[in-house]
Amino acid sequence: MDLVVALDIGGTLVKGAMVDREGNTLDDFKLGTLIGRGANDFVARLGSYINTLRKNAAAKGDRVLAIGMGVAGKILQKEGKIVFSPNLMPLNNYPLASELQKRTMLPVFMDNDANAFGIGERWKGAGREHENWLGITLGTGVGGVLILNGERWQGDDVGFVGEIGHTIVYPEGPLCNCGKRGCLEALSSATALTRGAKEAIEKGEKETELAEAYERNELNPILIADAAGRGDKLAVRLFERFGHGLGIAISNTFNLLGITTCIIGGGVSAAWPRFIDEVWKTLREVNSMVNFDQVVIKRASLGNRAAVLGAARLAWIELGKGH
Ligand SMILES: [Zn+2]
Repeated sequence: MDLVVALDIGGTLVKGAMVDREGNTLDDFKLGTLIGRGANDFVARLGSYINTLRKNAAAKGDRVLAIGMGVAGKILQKEGKIVFSPNLMPLNNYPLASELQKRTMLPVFMDNDANAFGIGERWKGAGREHENWLGITLGTGVGGVLILNGERWQGDDVGFVGEIGHTIVYPEGPLCNCGKRGCLEALSSATALTRGAKEAIEKGEKETELAEAYERNELNPILIADAAGRGDKLAVRLFERFGHGLGIAISNTFNLLGITTCIIGGGVSAAWPRFIDEVWKTLREVNSMVNFDQVVIKRASLGNRAAVLGAARLAWIELGKGH
């Protein structure tokens, strides 16, 4: 059987699997990223792990043909280089793909983690029956991917694409991690929820069940979602802002591209019932173009397997182009 090694490289963990051409996964694994030890150490460990996988596969008569990976950050896809990744600083400007290729003698294909999510959902998940859609990942930050004519949109290979998280939805809005104001990520991410709760409490909003968690320095999106579910005013307001921001961003994308489907994943999408009504309400308020009968907004279906499957599919697609 022919296989590829698929990797989802995050700040804490590398999740991976061996995946065949049909998307069947075997040998799921997790490795500590341990990026503090430096880029060379990281590639050496990853390379030797992959070489062991490959040896084991060969013993069963299987062949490993390539490595596909999704990495959080600004990526020069064709050069196989991370330009900037806040959680993987030692890999910035490091030729990750070619170094890994040297150690494994396998072709290495990489893309941004949100793109990997999109490719995975398109292949095996909620995006299977949709040719054109906007994908959004709600996590610590907000990632985005555009699937157009069935394939991910790649732009001009400038290092980013589909970065809906840094489109401005409230020009006077809260400060974003990127240094600008009013980005979607500053409203509709885990960071935005906890930061929003913290700021409101510090400004004197004490009648919230979140005050206690704030005192213990334990505010997190799950607590805030639970509180919103019980009707806590601050938590409800934060999720309204969250859904409102998303509604505006989705509406703008629909109008710009003439598409009507949005698929939402990432850890914070688990709080779906807390924000989805506000997304629809906002969309209806601000959008004068779309036919609402055609609009589909749905949850991604692969959970945290999306990026690994997407990385595998990326490798299969690139192999098919004659590498
Ligand atoms: Zn931003």
